[in-house]
Formats: sequence, C-alpha cells, structure tokens
Amino acid sequence: AEAAPARPGLLGRLLGRGDTPAVTRRALDDDMLEQLEELLISADMGVDTALRVTANMAEGRMGKRLSSLEIKQLLAAEITRIMEPVARPMPLYPNRPQVVLVVGVNGSGKTTTIGKLASQFKAAGKSVVIAAGDTFRAAAVEQLQVWGDRAGVPVLTAPEGSDPASLAFDAMTRAEADGADLLMIDTAGRLQNRADLMEELSKIVRVIRKKDPSAPHNTLLVLDATTGQNALSQVEIFQKLADVSGLVMTKLDGTARGGVLVALADKFGLPIHAIGVGEQIDDLAPFDPEDFAAALTG
Ligand code: GDP
Repeated sequence: AEAAPARPGLLGRLLGRGDTPAVTRRALDDDMLEQLEELLISADMGVDTALRVTANMAEGRMGKRLSSLEIKQLLAAEITRIMEPVARPMPLYPNRPQVVLVVGVNGSGKTTTIGKLASQFKAAGKSVVIAAGDTFRAAAVEQLQVWGDRAGVPVLTAPEGSDPASLAFDAMTRAEADGADLLMIDTAGRLQNRADLMEELSKIVRVIRKKDPSAPHNTLLVLDATTGQNALSQVEIFQKLADVSGLVMTKLDGTARGGVLVALADKFGLPIHAIGVGEQIDDLAPFDPEDFAAALTG
C-alpha cells in the first residue's frame, strides 16, 4: 500500500503511516502520554501547561484504546475548557472618555492593534481619539497617524521627545471637549530601561487620573504570538509596570504555534480580548476558544 501523506498538525503527527484517524486505536499508556506532552510542548504550550492538559485529558482513561481522532477531540476539549474563561471582548464602560492605555514591547503590534481597534469601535458607532504617546519614536508617531487616517480617527501628537504624560493630559482634555467615547493612548515599549518606562507609564496614569480618578479603564497588553514562550515573561514584566487588564495576541496568522496562549491563560488568567490575524485594518478577530483549540490540535 502507498504511504499515507504526511499530515500537518498534532493529529497528523500522532498517526502512523497508513493509520486512519477515526479507526486505528492505540492504548492510552505512559508512552502515548509522553508523546502527547512533547507535541504540546513543541506547539509552544510550555512544560507545566502541557503536563496539566495531558494529565486532565488522561484522567479515568488510562489503558483505554482510543483513536487519534478521539485523542485530538479530548485534547481540544481540555484546551477549550482552559480558554473559555479568558475569551472576553474588551469591556466597555459609560465613562467619557473611556481611557484605554496600550502597552507592550516595540514590534509587538501596538500601533497596528490601536488602528484596528479604533476602526472597529468607530464602525460600532463610537467616537475615538488616539494619543501617540510614544513620543520618542518619530516613526511610531508617523505610523500611528497613518492608522488614524485609515480608521478615520484623530491622532494627537506632540513634538519628538516631549513628555508623554503631558500629551496624555492634553488628549484627555481634547477627548472630554469632543465628548469622545474612547481615548486610546499608545505608550513606549522600550524594555531596555525598565525603571524609566515604569516612571513614564505611572506618570501618564497619575496625570489622566487628575481628570478621571477611575482611568485608565483598560490597560491592554499587546503580545506577539510568534515570540512563543517569551510572551510569558512579557506579561510578568508588564504586570509590574502597569495594571494590565487584558491581552491582545497579534500575528496568529503566521507561523505562530499558538500554544503559548494556553500557557498564558493557564498561568495568568488574563482575558484575551482579540487576536491579530494579519496586517490589514480588518485583521482583528474575537478570540474563539473552540476554533483555536481545533486549529491547535489540527
Ligand atoms: P509596535 O512597534 O508595537 O507599534 O508594532 P507595529 O504595530 O508597528 O507592528 C509591527 C509589525 O508587525 C508591523 O510590520 C505590522 O504590520 C506587523 N503586525 C502587527 N499585527 C500583526 C498581525 O496580527 N499579523 C501580522 N502578520 N502582522 C502584524
């Protein structure tokens, strides 16, 4: 018989040549569990989470003969169970403006995500103002203006090198005067000097709280899914720098193995508000746990 073509994804890698996913059965034993753990780890899930997922999946099933399709479905159900509580859109509040602080390392997709979100909010009938708070990167400010134009949303800027907190204050004033629903504030993402960045972020927060003590209402951390396990340490770092309220995972359209999202949910339980699935303005999608689990265990 001809060899079955290699299949991508976890299910494919579980199959022996000539196996049929729904038919060929193997006992769920220690060997099989180890193989599953390795597959999940290679999908960026991290050791702790991979062990937990496989252990939960195997509970009460050791020694049972399962097809690879059944195994895939059981794993997907386990992953869905972990992801469901964190799949939550960004909450909206009646405050005007609702202040959304956007943090993350440079290159993670902050600018792009702000543009995409602004466009979505605008389509939902909200008025939005953007503040280009990364005043030390002229290119970032320019890029944000491009996205603001695309979304049809005003972008407030300040001269290169000027104080981001004073820009944030001016942006609050403008957003209040305009009766804007949302003010999205971009921030710097240089981790090289964390003490500086912490001071910069906390000064922005102090200043906007002079106008609204409940602000910022959301602090979004933008993470690049292609950085794999690095995303975990970025969450730890930014939780120390700011009061992170939710995540946006970018670049899930590319080669990202995505398993890091499960590790993030398992470790931090922070809501995943949206996922970036491309470079265009409409390429921001709600996070769907079932679709995600099905794709990850493919
Ligand atoms: P920032 O430095 O954090 O503001 O990052 P940018 O928004 O400038 O994004 C950095 C790069 O990542 C740009 O080339 C974006 O086009 C790209 N990018 C951002 N989000 C996504 C995404 O969801 N998918 C893909 N494929 N590329 C993205």
